[in-house]
Amino acid sequence: DFRSALAVYLSDPASVPSKSMLFYNDDFVVVPDAFPKSIVHALILPRDISITHLHPFEALNSNPELLESIRKISLQIRDLLARELRRIYLKTSALERARQKAFEELEERAISEPGFDPDSEESQALLPPGRDWASCIRIGVHARPSMSNLHIHVISQDMHSERMKHKKHYNSFNSGFFVDLDEFPLDGDDQRIPGVGHVTNGMLKGDMTCWKCGRNFGNRFQLLKEHLEVEYEAWKRI
Ligand code: 5GP
Ligand code: ZN
Repeated sequence: DFRSALAVYLSDPASVPSKSMLFYNDDFVVVPDAFPKSIVHALILPRDISITHLHPFEALNSNPELLESIRKISLQIRDLLARELRRIYLKTSALERARQKAFEELEERAISEPGFDPDSEESQALLPPGRDWASCIRIGVHARPSMSNLHIHVISQDMHSERMKHKKHYNSFNSGFFVDLDEFPLDGDDQRIPGVGHVTNGMLKGDMTCWKCGRNFGNRFQLLKEHLEVEYEAWKRI
């Protein structure tokens, strides 16, 4: 059953090829999403077998300790992906290269000028402003996951990926269907909770709006894809 495809990572993480494994310890396994919906996209899987088949809302609402440990690791993975995103942009973004060059000049001065401190406030002021890369990464769960093992998405917000192929893909990350980890614990009357309400289907079927500028694309997925390409090019320049 495809719904249990993530189970292989849990049983024996050491045997997973390293390109399919970002990190693991006794409590978590972190893998790159096999069908990434953005430039960087990873999944965090708690290894505890007794909770792996819980609905994410139930797991995150009922267990403060688990929620806290997931918050902790998800921030580490967010920072890891933020560095990866920056590295990718370094190849494509003129601004990021200019910052890198200025940074290297400071490092060189530190070697050639005795007493020059590259970390001082005055030195750092010489660097062009950088982007807050961590703020480009989102952490959360789907209201109705398709995969049955408990997992948390860590994903850049760009939605720039050839694997992002239809409306449901897009809306599952860009509507209330995507529940940010910061929203937990949820209110007991949250209409997205199974048994409480039935709003989640509608969220996937609703209009698609650009995450960046808010423009409404209705049902026009191809237009949205073209627009995301424009946003991606623009994002590289700012
Ligand atoms: P869900 O909608 O269940 O929250 O998301 C499941 C995620 O698992 C999707 O983003 C999908 O691309 C990803 N996925 C599906 N099968 C596999 C797999 O075998 N390996 C990995 N690493 N990811 C997978
Ligand atoms: Zn836009």
